[in-house]
Amino acid sequence: MKILVHTCCGPCSVYPVPKLLNAGHEVICYFHRANIHPWAECQRREETLLAWANAQNLVVIVQPGYNIEDFFQKAAFREQDRCIACYHERLYAAASLARRAKADAFTTTLLYSKFQQHELIAQIGNAVGRQAGVDFYYEDFRQGWKQGIEESKKLKMYRQQYCGCLYSEKERYKSEIDPPKKS
Ligand code: SF4
Repeated sequence: MKILVHTCCGPCSVYPVPKLLNAGHEVICYFHRANIHPWAECQRREETLLAWANAQNLVVIVQPGYNIEDFFQKAAFREQDRCIACYHERLYAAASLARRAKADAFTTTLLYSKFQQHELIAQIGNAVGRQAGVDFYYEDFRQGWKQGIEESKKLKMYRQQYCGCLYSEKERYKSEIDPPKKS
């Protein structure tokens, strides 16, 4: 199959993408970036992904522009549920692109991460696939979690410390911002 893979970053791609290639699929990568803040961090992740992808002779399509205003408008007043809109935005963009590229299916490296809401991603992937008229390819890439980490370390890839948005950065450093009180 020709599969368009939404690739959230380099380290999360090193297991799923070669797995799909080894299974005989043709792969096109898509990097969607408006959810990654700030811009310098976004650039670092993009460069990391592109350097790896170029070495593998992979095609990567990068989301044009950097519409963080749209991201924050969708997250405002529902910050606790922001990942739903974020997954939807990225997966719908991937599904639409897959349709335009005449791919047989689309998938996402979000299915690799143990830190993401796996079942929700699969549910949204199937829904936007039906909406866009292209199949969502599901595979539980978490089985390669350790292998992917080892590979990205071996390649000396930049490994980010938070999911992407400013909210996730704050959550990552919560214990430094609000140290637990000693009793
Ligand atoms: S935590 Fe990650 S998935 Fe959730 S809104 Fe932020 S960038 Fe998107």
